[in-house]
Parts: sequence; structure tokens; C-alpha cells
Amino acid sequence: MTADGRIVNPHGYPDELVRQSIAAALKSIAQRRSRSAKAAAETRRRRQAFKVQETARRIVAGAKLGPRPTCCICGRGIDDPQSVARGIGSECWQDVLQAIEQQQAAKLAGALP
Ligand SMILES: [Zn+2]
Repeated sequence: MTADGRIVNPHGYPDELVRQSIAAALKSIAQRRSRSAKAAAETRRRRQAFKVQETARRIVAGAKLGPRPTCCICGRGIDDPQSVARGIGSECWQDVLQAIEQQQAAKLAGALP
């Protein structure tokens, strides 16, 4: 199909058949893209969750991640001084804090008889 909506049909198939085939192909492409986008979002979410856990472990172990101009979890720029010093943006910091608390609670639970 050309940009102005005409169909290129050198073999002379019935117009309706060509239009239906094009519509089916476009629908299939859109469905594949949608599936891929969902899978990519899930992969991003999983990687970020892993990064949060890993970062929490490093902080508990005494690592210092800042100062830095981008969040070490999501990579976005950070500008408030507290976040820059920490190396983690305020949104991601909430997740890291939660992970630190969970890891410390798990450690405590493991240390108890
Ligand atoms: Zn972040």
C-alpha cells in the first residue's frame, strides 16, 4: 500500500482480498509489537527489582554510591543534593529503603533460634 492509500497490486488480485490481507498483516504486526512491549516492560521491572535488592545489599555492607548525577537504580538524572549525595533518586530510594528493611528483618529472623 502506498502512502496515499492506493494498493500496489501487480498480479491483479481482487482489491478486497488485498485490502483484507494487508489489514490482517498489520494487525498481526501490531499484536507482535504489543506482546514484545509487554515482555520488555516485565524484563525492565525484573531487572530493576534485582538492582534494588543488590543495591540494598551493598549499602548494608557499607558501600557508598554517591555523589553522582544519575540514579544508580534507574539511570535518570537527579538534582536534589540529598539524592545526588546518595547516588539514588528519591523514588528509587523508597524501594531501596524497603529492601534494606526486608533484608535486615530476614537477617534478624535467621539469627533468632
Ligand atoms: Zn532512580
